[in-house]
Amino acid sequence: MVKLKPCGSSSVVERLLAKEKVAGSIPVCRSKNISVSSGMFLFQGLNPFRFWAKINSLKFVIMAMEATHVRFARDISQYLNITDWSTFYAGAIYPDSRYVTGISRDKTHGPDCPKNPFAVGLSDFEKGWAAHLYYDEVAHLLYFKALSKPHERVFPGSDLWQTITAVKVIEDMLGFKYLGSEKKFLLEFSADDFPITEDKKLIEKYCSFQKNLYDHQPEVNDYKKFWTAFNIEKEIAEGVLLKVHKFLIDKLICDRIENIFSTVLKSVQK
Ligand SMILES: [Zn+2]
Repeated sequence: MVKLKPCGSSSVVERLLAKEKVAGSIPVCRSKNISVSSGMFLFQGLNPFRFWAKINSLKFVIMAMEATHVRFARDISQYLNITDWSTFYAGAIYPDSRYVTGISRDKTHGPDCPKNPFAVGLSDFEKGWAAHLYYDEVAHLLYFKALSKPHERVFPGSDLWQTITAVKVIEDMLGFKYLGSEKKFLLEFSADDFPITEDKKLIEKYCSFQKNLYDHQPEVNDYKKFWTAFNIEKEIAEGVLLKVHKFLIDKLICDRIENIFSTVLKSVQK
């Protein structure tokens, strides 16, 4: 049996950073005003994506999508003594609901959130939540590695953001293919599974976005529809799709993308 190394995600990230010879911690952009090279983002009005981007400018970790999170939660679940599977998977899907609820990143992905799924005393929901955060943080540098790009700050909507988002889309499409009966947890969760205080209607909205994406094997264009629901600008969504199509015909990149998941999984094993 595989023996687990119950380490916190931050130490894993630190090791990866050290390996990459990148000084410091997760990239933090402290600028209040994001300047994107394309000049596309001005943060005017109430466009939710722009609002989200502004929130993320304070501390931005590139995050995987939900089929990937469910797959990872499934693959480590055998070591987690889960009793309530619906709540466990709801926990794995929960953190990114903030894109719809608009609550701060710190409340779903911050230092006080459960980050070690193997920690003692977590509820099933917290185990799923911690599995999500673990994947987000460990995969962060691996996205750069897959692209042979140096680790640097990523501003939402920028060309680099689009490139890495394209990688995440391919990772997610692949991830969905590897799901079996767990697919239903992407379709059956509801606000009632979330022991949180966010606006229930907004959580339900987030649930319905996910259900629309995952009620079948998602194709590239389904992600475009998904982002449209999040009010991501058309030019940005199209930029991502172009990159997805470009990567899909590049076997080397596809192999590297496929390896991201197994590398994260191996990081919790020895
Ligand atoms: Zn996340």
